Amino acid sequence: MIEHLKNIWNKRPLIISGPCSAETEAQVLKTATDLAASNKIDVLRAGIWKPRTKPGLFEGIGTIGLTWLAQAKAITGLPTTVEVATAQHVEEALKHGVDILWIGARTTVNPFSVQEVADVLKGVDIPVLVKNPINPDLELWSGALERLQKVGLQDVGMIHRGFSSYGNTEYRNAPMWHLAIEMKMRYPELLMICDPSHICGNRVLLQDVAQKSIDLDFGGLMIESHIDPDNAWSDAKQQITPETLSKMIDNLIWRV
Ligand code: PEP
Ligand code: MN
Repeated sequence: MIEHLKNIWNKRPLIISGPCSAETEAQVLKTATDLAASNKIDVLRAGIWKPRTKPGLFEGIGTIGLTWLAQAKAITGLPTTVEVATAQHVEEALKHGVDILWIGARTTVNPFSVQEVADVLKGVDIPVLVKNPINPDLELWSGALERLQKVGLQDVGMIHRGFSSYGNTEYRNAPMWHLAIEMKMRYPELLMICDPSHICGNRVLLQDVAQKSIDLDFGGLMIESHIDPDNAWSDAKQQITPETLSKMIDNLIWRV
């Protein structure tokens, strides 16, 4: 890893933000420049390929979005991260200079997919974050981390995004904090960040969940942000503007 990215990867707290999905060039660039202007985030995220539970919803803008992310990086200097689920996603992301990859909750559940991603990353020096599987199965989460480590990846980390359950609950995905804590204990040397956006599923609870993760000594946050959250093409209810994000970060009480 180049020195600059290594410093960012090792920064605590590591703050990642950006839209659930890249939608248009203007949306990606404006979100990125507003986030960069606040000077509070370290890495820019955007979903390029979206694993939707049901068909017929926006499934991601695809490869063109990677060119917008590359532009956003050139303008703001922020390194970028995207979700990858197939060998082709990885190849496209690497070709377009994405700095950090992440594996989504619907992919961590599938050892075939994780292995496919791991195989194509053999010999590649890039950090990879692994979200917990959608179901509360720590062995799948561990298995995904180990598949990546086995191909030689040096920099893997975890994202806690909560676990799904049947029926309506306060959270979109129950945090089940004890499970994330167990993973922190299993892999004390690995980065664990929290994704309050997908735990909450709405804006109201974000601040409290983010604070709880800090109190539990997580290493950072991934929070979705959008210039026009109500009109986002995915996850509209849980996204916040870069300005709201900046205020939220100011109001968090960080451990010293
Ligand atoms: C996302 O980060 O937009 C996403 C699809 O998350 P998850 O895999 O946690 O559902
Ligand atoms: Mn999302």
